[in-house]
Amino acid sequence: MTSLIQPGEAEALLQAAINGELPDERGRFGPFGGRYVPETLVPAFERLEAGVREHLHDPQFQAEYQRELREWVGRPTALTHAPRLSERWGADVWLKREDLAHTGAHKINNAIGQALLAKRLGVERVIAETGAGQHGVASAAACARVGLPCAVYMGAVDIERQAPNVDRMRRLGAEVIAVESGDKTLRAAIDEALRKWVTDPAGIYYLLGSAVGAHPYPYLVRELQSVIGRESREQMIEQAGGLPDAAFACVGGGSNAIGLFYPLLGDDIELIGVEAGGTGSGLGQNAATLATGTPGVLQGSYTMILQDGDGQVQETHSISAGLDYSGVGPEHALLQATGRVRYVAASDGDALAALEELCETEGILTALETSHAYVAAREWAKENPGKRLLIGNSGRGDKDMPTLTKFPVKVRGHASA
Ligand SMILES: *Cc1c(COP(=O)(O)O)cnc(C)c1O
Repeated sequence: MTSLIQPGEAEALLQAAINGELPDERGRFGPFGGRYVPETLVPAFERLEAGVREHLHDPQFQAEYQRELREWVGRPTALTHAPRLSERWGADVWLKREDLAHTGAHKINNAIGQALLAKRLGVERVIAETGAGQHGVASAAACARVGLPCAVYMGAVDIERQAPNVDRMRRLGAEVIAVESGDKTLRAAIDEALRKWVTDPAGIYYLLGSAVGAHPYPYLVRELQSVIGRESREQMIEQAGGLPDAAFACVGGGSNAIGLFYPLLGDDIELIGVEAGGTGSGLGQNAATLATGTPGVLQGSYTMILQDGDGQVQETHSISAGLDYSGVGPEHALLQATGRVRYVAASDGDALAALEELCETEGILTALETSHAYVAAREWAKENPGKRLLIGNSGRGDKDMPTLTKFPVKVRGHASA
């Protein structure tokens, strides 16, 4: 999408991103981002923006947040060397283990940060949206931790598909509200949560789950998830003796990827985001927003989206529920346009095979979302023998067992048998 950025502009925008100058005061990452919301929502977003400005980098807030990350989330998460996978791939492979974080994925970094912010802002309750239920579980847990009631909006279709997570949320004290409007999945759940938020922006905090939507969410979520990249940077230097040559992360809305990439933008590291290639390259067959989409406005942000020729947002498909979204965070759209990060797609089948390979070689059952990152990393390793690479292992795969059970394990030969 180089046409959106004038020649010569890309370098200046990238430098601004590296310097921490983006988003600008209008919430924009170059041409992307911003706040395209109805008049009725403006006061709620302005109130949130003022709250973020006042509290997020306040030392007392940060001390509290860091303490929760350490004592409750279990940070820093491990950096794991993968010797057997390295041998197979002919590269030096390292894994950043967000699967070891409380509730099993990176989502908790954001959820607890925003829950603490909600507490500071003095709201009476929190609302959240969820698709697969992972962000709903993280939000329910974080709200219980800070002592705020939590209601999670979830599409009726997803409630049916993700029954175990619905039960988890309820046990963690959240109320799960079925959304019967629109596509009855994640997009409708976000719309419904926004509608609820405008009814009482002073009393309600909307805890959004990825680096998407109108300003300040993409900024707020990036700041909270950047702990992944900061820890990785230090751990790579300490454990591997230097930074990686390339880093990989899966991209749904883009929160774990921006969290890993952002602190590495200024380094000489190839950065690759991996989207859901689904079953094919046609509209509706995948969720490869950056790899195959076009610019447009979705849920308050100008970004890359999957739409048809009339601008109708398209349904998506992925084997992993967490990557199944027709938009993406605006900062990724900029990083793609400047050429700093490359975005590729991995198919359902290749993701399944990668999941199996990681189980077999390293004893880690990773999430189906995460598996997509391994597909691209493996290809890169074959083309770059002997190089060092880092993979953001965004979550654990236990939640995917109902899906995985449909695909029987290949019978493996045991060398010693
Ligand atoms: C939700 C989820 C994702 C996708 O969300 P991002 O905002 O793109 O990070 C990726 N991996 C796991 C394990 C998830 O639960």
